[in-house]
Amino acid sequence: MFARILRGEIPAEVLHEDEHCLAFLDVTPQAPTHFLVIPKREIATLSDATPQDEGLLGHLLVTAANVAKQLGVDEDGSRIVINNGAGAGQTVFHLHVHVLAGRTLAWPPG
Ligand code: 5GP
Repeated sequence: MFARILRGEIPAEVLHEDEHCLAFLDVTPQAPTHFLVIPKREIATLSDATPQDEGLLGHLLVTAANVAKQLGVDEDGSRIVINNGAGAGQTVFHLHVHVLAGRTLAWPPG
């Protein structure tokens, strides 16, 4: 599904794009600000990442932080989440980083 967003076949509210990743608003936001950062190279789950992906994974996190700054939601804090596998709530099997902000976020998460 996210491959279709990358190919422009499904519209998305894109916040950032570079050669390695795309950041876009989540279609079903769970917080006032909720966006996803995905690698352009498809990795199904975090567990499928290899040592060769270390740079890419770091890039996703730095991009998540930079986009949060760009949106002005970094100062009050944000929650960065990767659901890793169906048992953890992953429904789209193209690795993605969730960024949630704009409301109080409880810990532990549900
Ligand atoms: P997961 O449950 O796999 O961690 O998260 C998948 C996320 O992708 C969900 O928050 C869901 O709302 C979002 N999502 C699923 N399909 C689409 C889509 O077509 N467009 C956008 N923008 N978000 C999507």
